[in-house]
Amino acid sequence: MSRIYLSPPEVGSEERRMLLEAFDSNWIAPLGPDVDAFEAEFADRIGTGHAVALSSGTAALHLALLLLGVGPGDEVLVPSFTFVATANAVRYLGARPVFVDCSAATWNIDPELVTGELDDRARQGRLPKAVITVDLYGQAADYDALQPVCDTYDLPLIEDAAEALGGTYKGRAAGSFGAAGIFSFNGNKIITTSGGGMLVADSAELAERARYLATQARDPFPHYEHTAIGFNYRLSNLLAALGRAQLRGLDSRINRRHRINRCYRAAFSELPGIDFMPVADYGEPNYWLTCITIDPGRFGVDREVVRLALEKADIESRPTWKPLHLQPVFADDPVVGGSVSAQIFDRGLCLPSGSALSDHELDRIADIVRGLAR
Ligand SMILES: *Cc1c(COP(=O)(O)O)cnc(C)c1O
Repeated sequence: MSRIYLSPPEVGSEERRMLLEAFDSNWIAPLGPDVDAFEAEFADRIGTGHAVALSSGTAALHLALLLLGVGPGDEVLVPSFTFVATANAVRYLGARPVFVDCSAATWNIDPELVTGELDDRARQGRLPKAVITVDLYGQAADYDALQPVCDTYDLPLIEDAAEALGGTYKGRAAGSFGAAGIFSFNGNKIITTSGGGMLVADSAELAERARYLATQARDPFPHYEHTAIGFNYRLSNLLAALGRAQLRGLDSRINRRHRINRCYRAAFSELPGIDFMPVADYGEPNYWLTCITIDPGRFGVDREVVRLALEKADIESRPTWKPLHLQPVFADDPVVGGSVSAQIFDRGLCLPSGSALSDHELDRIADIVRGLAR
């Protein structure tokens, strides 16, 4: 029996074919026809005017914040319950994250806390420069509750949809809300280019500027001429070919992950003290990871006991994100609320959710968890 990973890449003959086609065409140089095609196909899928293929989701966040005017000394509202990259990008610009707790009903940034904080800050004349939302574990934040208050104060919203490709909110694609959206194609995300990301936006100007900054800010001269500080943030053509093949298989991957989620729900339905990450009725997640919380008082043992029992059977599971307001590196940054995400972290566990997970493997996992219940 081989190790079961949390969310391993799944690649097949289509990926191999398209990657080798790009290789054989000699488009090894960073940019090329597969980058252009990947961007066009991606923008089409999300329903945004433009998409810019980048070397990572973190790079996409960095550029989005930069292009929306975030700079040294600014503050940016950031969900506390997310992966560290969301807040790191704020720090790259010399700005400061202001962490906002999540709602227990969605695990995403709490619109009421955002509204209260922005109202307070407006009264005090110290509004932040931007608001970042995260579509956590593949479920969209509540945009109808978040966008109007951002509009009221004329703040750009940046949607970190790194985990949510293919998820929807009221029928609209995750990533298409806000002034810019970002995605990640890291190895454990729902589709992967081994490493890569995408910035999407309706603004042609923003997309053009992102392409320019991502390619060392080269001005249009025959020699190398520069009027801005740029970055080396573009996705290579070979990886874009891989991404195109992965994108074609996105819907079947979502279906498979959704099915895995249903299997876990069925397997644990009789167990006391296990709850699933709530699915909001406003949209369809992509079911990137299936996450549960374990109430030790009712279940019998705590999350760590379950995680270690799985690990002993060579099965990888992981605690849910540790809230950023509890991370030592952000100890000095302000936080609004915080107890909801802290409690989820205390009890939360992400279960193996890869699209290639077999029914037999699901049974093995469920048996171990069931065996621990009181
Ligand atoms: C993965 C992830 C990122 C970073 O993406 P990379 O491609 O790994 O740089 C950013 N935000 C969230 C919420 C993520 O899960």
